[in-house]
Amino acid sequence: MTVSLHQDVIRTEMLSLVKSLKGQVADHQNSYVNMDLERKLPKNKVVSRDSGKREELLNEVCHEAGDCESCQLSRTRKHVVFGDGNPEANIVFVGEAPGADEDEQGLPFVGRAGQLLTNIIKAMGLERKDVYICNILKCRPPGNRNPLPEEIRLCESYLKRQLAIISPKVICALGTFAAHTLLQTDIPITQLRGRFHSYQGIKLMPTYHPAYLLRNPAAKKPVWDDIQMIMKEAGIPS
Ligand code: SF4
Repeated sequence: MTVSLHQDVIRTEMLSLVKSLKGQVADHQNSYVNMDLERKLPKNKVVSRDSGKREELLNEVCHEAGDCESCQLSRTRKHVVFGDGNPEANIVFVGEAPGADEDEQGLPFVGRAGQLLTNIIKAMGLERKDVYICNILKCRPPGNRNPLPEEIRLCESYLKRQLAIISPKVICALGTFAAHTLLQTDIPITQLRGRFHSYQGIKLMPTYHPAYLLRNPAAKKPVWDDIQMIMKEAGIPS
């Protein structure tokens, strides 16, 4: 009886030992397979899968904005101008609102000011498809008047969701309305520009709007200073 009990104990211990060894072997094999997969999977594969998800999420918000009638601008717009560019962008430019050309084409920054922004992006060594461009308001205020506080309040959630989905390294707020809306301040842009601020933990650089540069070419110099700081932060060689 004692011998049998002793044998049972030994058998139980043996079984437990074998089970433990099998577990360790399986863990080792899994970690080896995972390491191997990580080695074989190029980093941009992971990014492109992520990018697809971001694009999908942006499309959902874009679709929602396309039907939006939350404010009076829905009655006068031709197109909702949601945004354009790379959902994986490290840099997002945020302007004020669409103008006549943008309203016509449904794309942001395609008029004269847009051409200047495109030139700035080229001077950075990038193309428009490398960055993301959007506005605070998604519909054109008639006669290009300033956005009303109520319009900004009603439209803001689209921009907030865009920025949360893209989650860039740097946001460049173009002009007073973009800077004031994103930073919830009324400090003049002349005092805000030239240094980074924080929007939801993302570095934000306010600078002058390209439309202002068309009227004041001398302001191109400080804008280029701001852009160079953005490039450095985003890891773009100057
Ligand atoms: S401006 Fe914004 S809130 Fe107003 S209708 Fe267009 S999408 Fe909607």
